[in-house]
Amino acid sequence: MSFAAYKEIIEEGDTVILHIGHENMYPLTVKKGETFQTKYGALKHEDLIGIKFGSKVHATKGYMHVLHPTPELWTVNLPHRTQILYSTDISMVLMQLDLVPGNVVVESGPFSLTLSGTGSGSLSHALIRAVAPTGHLYTYEFHKQRAEKAVEEFKDHGLSDLVTVNHRDVCMDGFGLDHIADAVFLDLPRPWEAVLSAKQALKLQGGRICSFSPCIEQVQRVCEVLSESNFTDVTTMECLVRKFEVKSINMPEPDLGDMKDPHELGQGEGEGHSSDVKREQVDDNGSPQVKYAKVEGSSGWQYKHKTRKNSEMFSFRTALPPHQMPGHTGYLTFATLYSE
Ligand code: SAM
Repeated sequence: MSFAAYKEIIEEGDTVILHIGHENMYPLTVKKGETFQTKYGALKHEDLIGIKFGSKVHATKGYMHVLHPTPELWTVNLPHRTQILYSTDISMVLMQLDLVPGNVVVESGPFSLTLSGTGSGSLSHALIRAVAPTGHLYTYEFHKQRAEKAVEEFKDHGLSDLVTVNHRDVCMDGFGLDHIADAVFLDLPRPWEAVLSAKQALKLQGGRICSFSPCIEQVQRVCEVLSESNFTDVTTMECLVRKFEVKSINMPEPDLGDMKDPHELGQGEGEGHSSDVKREQVDDNGSPQVKYAKVEGSSGWQYKHKTRKNSEMFSFRTALPPHQMPGHTGYLTFATLYSE
């Protein structure tokens, strides 16, 4: 199997995502003879072999779905070796680095990209899918065990042909590539130390770079070095997900007093302020609900009130942000390289 292409039927050795609920998923490598315990009871791996991805499967006390892995599902299920990038930032990175499937750029030659450091491989999986099937990802990690684990994972996920993992310190030793990369991504504590090597790796015209940093001081420093190194269009952004809950709210009809004919008040149309003088509140069908009038008093504009006659509730649709807002992950700094 490969994370970069879909297939229909589950075979032994495949990685599947067991979806029990939105917040309750497990990655599983299918092996004959093994059993996986869930809150709905035991699931035999053997029962998965030969069925379609997406199928509903039954354990002893309930059911779940068995999904084809995607980079997005992997990001929320992977074993963490480091902090990782999540899909919100990842999607902005893919778009801003102008990444396209390799088959679209095949005429321009192989599509290459460098990434450092590999970390837990969350971003790597999305980058590989973006440049597959003819592109390639060169990824760098100076932590030996993390680099080895990444090699193993990419192999298990059928991605070995699309990615090369280098065990290397890119700040000390550079990327070892000469002007072949369409894009470079840096997720390092001292990204400014890798900017010159990135410049060496990038294609001379229009290569894109992105640096991810949690702190604004890191951003300031990398921006300075990018500008000094002749990168242009240096732009920093932060991606935050903001959800809005759309709901209907019932409110008592506001006590705006009885309708007062503006003509009675000597402020009808043609006498100035006509739009302020008379307003109507309408329901969903456009029917007037409440009317009121304003008059100019000695202390400015005032409402003329009378006792409210009915207290019907009225309902309106609104979109409210949730109480808890998502937190900061990091800043993304993008720039373009044009040779002098
Ligand atoms: N973007 C990754 C992801 O989504 O899974 C996470 C990257 S993690 C925050 C940063 C990684 O960079 C760590 O695994 C660290 O070992 C590696 N690293 C730090 N400095 C490095 C350097 N100079 N050369 C190569 N790798 C480095």
